[in-house]
Amino acid sequence: MIRGLKAPSFMDLALLTAENAGKAGEVPIGCVVVRNNEVVATAANRTLTDHDPTAHAEIVALREAAKKIGSERLVDCDLYVTLEPCTMCAGAISFARVRRLYYGAADPKGGAVESGVRFFASPTCHHAPDVYSGVGESEAARLLKEFFRERR
Ligand SMILES: [Zn+2]
Repeated sequence: MIRGLKAPSFMDLALLTAENAGKAGEVPIGCVVVRNNEVVATAANRTLTDHDPTAHAEIVALREAAKKIGSERLVDCDLYVTLEPCTMCAGAISFARVRRLYYGAADPKGGAVESGVRFFASPTCHHAPDVYSGVGESEAARLLKEFFRERR
């Protein structure tokens, strides 16, 4: 457990996790789940490593956090992720009853919070977290841009 980090530091940890994932060939997206100012789970994208299309950073982190806490509802938890969550992850964040969502870069092509379906604002969404966007945005966007530039 990492204690006493403030909000920007939690995003720094998510960014570091993203950067390491990028070095391993995964799309550099990182996620941290925090409860009572303690890190409960840290995860990066693992879709290639696990041959799992659902292994987005948020899903991997939510699963780990739920297992550690021993509940499928992460009511006192805040989630930090470097990129705007997609439709699947927005759904999972809602099911997990996450309290606050902090994300870095917006994702106009694949996001589902302020882009695309805007899941949390839809009538079929039964729990929406408080959303804070743009936290560590420039660093998150830089990691992704560099990753995809190197692969072109
Ligand atoms: Zn996702």
